Amino acid sequence: MQYDGPVKLVPLGTNGFFSTFGRQTQCYLVLTDDAAVLLDAGTGLGRLLEPEIAKLLEGYGRLDIFLSHYHLDHCIGLAYLPEVLPGRQVVIHGPAPPFATATPDEALNRLLNVPFSAPLAVFPLKAEVVPVSESAMSVNGLDMAFRGQKHMFGSMGIRIGDDVAYVTDTIADEGTIGLTRNVKLLIHEVYLTDSEAETDEINARNHSYVSGVARIAREANVGRLMITHHHPRRTPAAVAGMARAIEKLAGREVIVPEESKVYDL
Ligand SMILES: [Zn+2]
Ligand SMILES: [Zn+2]
Repeated sequence: MQYDGPVKLVPLGTNGFFSTFGRQTQCYLVLTDDAAVLLDAGTGLGRLLEPEIAKLLEGYGRLDIFLSHYHLDHCIGLAYLPEVLPGRQVVIHGPAPPFATATPDEALNRLLNVPFSAPLAVFPLKAEVVPVSESAMSVNGLDMAFRGQKHMFGSMGIRIGDDVAYVTDTIADEGTIGLTRNVKLLIHEVYLTDSEAETDEINARNHSYVSGVARIAREANVGRLMITHHHPRRTPAAVAGMARAIEKLAGREVIVPEESKVYDL
């Protein structure tokens, strides 16, 4: 059954690659009446320690973390879990083939291991790792949908009911239109301007650009678009300029996420 209660979204990290201009790397908190979900676990996961955010999480016994893929800007925050969520039950859902080239066990056993960290098994919390390789599943009363994306070593687009779709670390891809059709809020990466996409070959093979994302938002008929995974070099003014350009092309509201702000969906 589809959840139709209130949903809160809190951007905790909105940068790609590494943190700049006070922006942490990718992490979003989604709260329904019964479920607490993190989309990605970049350095923004540390914001769960901020008192206002910690208060929001009170009463949720379990946190479901969905990873888009295993690049460090999306996973490094997992190493902070013992400090941030001691004693909690955490379920980490990570892409497995065909969505990514590695399984979550393979990837996380390498990231969370000596000498960089301790293995997840000895963290002082109840953690479970669940591979995602199907295009739909139900988690904690939420209807989740997934799609494999074109990115270095693969990545996974994630949709939660009709409320939120989270699409990052992918080229601007027609296939995203099916995953995100009529969703209330699409959070989509915009790493490059159109001219950067023409000259920066490596990033253009892995990331999205302004007019490509605008077309997806328009053709998928999403309610609102939130742009994310900002280039670390991009000033706040340049990000705002990108949002205005996309808004014109997409014909719908485009939001630049403010980290730690609560958005009611
Ligand atoms: Zn990234
Ligand atoms: Zn990536």
